[in-house]
Amino acid sequence: MTQLSAAELNRKLASKEVSALEVAQAHFERIEAHDAKLGCFLHLDKEGALASANEAQKRLDAGEATALTGVPIVLKDNMSTIGVPTTCASKILEGYIPPFDATVVAKLKSAGATILGKTNLDEFAMGTSTENSAYQLTRNPWDTDRSPGGSSGGSAAAVSAEFAPLGLGSDTGGSIRQPASLCGIVGFKPTYGRCSRYGLIAFGSSLDQIGPFARNIEDAALLAEAITGHDPLDGTSMKTEPISTRDLKNGSLKGLKIGLAEEMFSEAINPGVREVVERAIEALAKEGVEFKKITLPSIELGVTTYYIIAPAEASSNLARFDGIRYGPRWEGSGHIDVVSKTRGQGFGHEVKGRIMIGTYALSAGYYDAYYTKAQQVRALMIREFNEAFQDTEILLAPTSPTVAFKLGELSNDPMALKLLDYCTIPANLGGMPSVSLNCGFSEGLPVGLQLTAAPLRDERLLQIAYSVERALPNATGRPPLP
Ligand code: GLN
Repeated sequence: MTQLSAAELNRKLASKEVSALEVAQAHFERIEAHDAKLGCFLHLDKEGALASANEAQKRLDAGEATALTGVPIVLKDNMSTIGVPTTCASKILEGYIPPFDATVVAKLKSAGATILGKTNLDEFAMGTSTENSAYQLTRNPWDTDRSPGGSSGGSAAAVSAEFAPLGLGSDTGGSIRQPASLCGIVGFKPTYGRCSRYGLIAFGSSLDQIGPFARNIEDAALLAEAITGHDPLDGTSMKTEPISTRDLKNGSLKGLKIGLAEEMFSEAINPGVREVVERAIEALAKEGVEFKKITLPSIELGVTTYYIIAPAEASSNLARFDGIRYGPRWEGSGHIDVVSKTRGQGFGHEVKGRIMIGTYALSAGYYDAYYTKAQQVRALMIREFNEAFQDTEILLAPTSPTVAFKLGELSNDPMALKLLDYCTIPANLGGMPSVSLNCGFSEGLPVGLQLTAAPLRDERLLQIAYSVERALPNATGRPPLP
């Protein structure tokens, strides 16, 4: 049961071959057998999940099921869940229990999905390896000495390890797509504004977007359909319909124009990764895709630009964690002492660094030199991408410059870690929908292919990704877990 996709589970649940409770129990058994080694979960909610599976069964019996009724899912622990701890993998939120559900969580509940638990991440989603969690390491199911990527490493590893067919992550600079790539699964970041951020604990509000993890494109699309749509509780939510899966399977690759930006195939990309992606390109060309070499020079400024804007927004968003309103408090003498002790003890090293950089970039005297300049580069980049989308429908690139790296290998080299976001960051700065799917293996480790489309072209992007997945039939596999 744990090997089935969400769509297959849905069919078996509908035909009464399996019950929602059996499905939930099978997944918990697998989690109990393997998660001690992998460390995907910060919090398992077995009681809540089994109760919700019972409710799901009633809906199935009454013929009132949706595509996700009784289907297990895991959530990155930066999404608010009523009555269930939500820590952002930070000590500053240890023991915090939200009094409300994030909109995506409310939507999953009303669809009848079975939420199994909350997964590990880099503290406040700041990182690329999940090693910045204040609580635990998460290991890559393909090689447990390696990182699952990050920051949504717990959800990615859990879906790869068949702990659940579906997961949610958040992507501010690549945190869905990069771990999907390193764990050999599908990760999708919708257009900025299509998925509500209400109840997602904010990191970089102009960049953050929630999206699905799955083991194939169809499942990712079904989950995207369930969680997207306009939400009046999020001021940046677009007035658009949920992402539709109606035409998902009706696409074709014949005559499709795909752009290859030379900057995405530079020396920054590991040769093994490049080779696997180039082989996929050849296979797609045989299916009739017309590739066009283009240049998008601003891509090379992406990492620098992002690492001004994201910390600037984070420094403002994280000001609310003061020991007064949420989570634990470190006592002291007077307000300033309490706040500084709480923030000093409660935040980890990476988070403090980001707050300092962000505060600096926003301070009078430096604002124009850093923050304004970064916003100008962002505008330039959006213009360049808009032009590229005039005569190519999709941009194709590697998702990550490397395959999964060893735990500890880069943790003392913050610069090297940040450069790993090179291919993923442009879609965040431009608000574009972008998906990663596995396209082969290098040194026995998964390699992700990234497809990006113009904003609001989510349906078309997923339709093309579905066809690409069909054109690369041997590109995926199962990790070597018993
Ligand atoms: N690696 C990037 C960072 O550390 C992206 C994180 C994310 O997308 N949440 O900021």
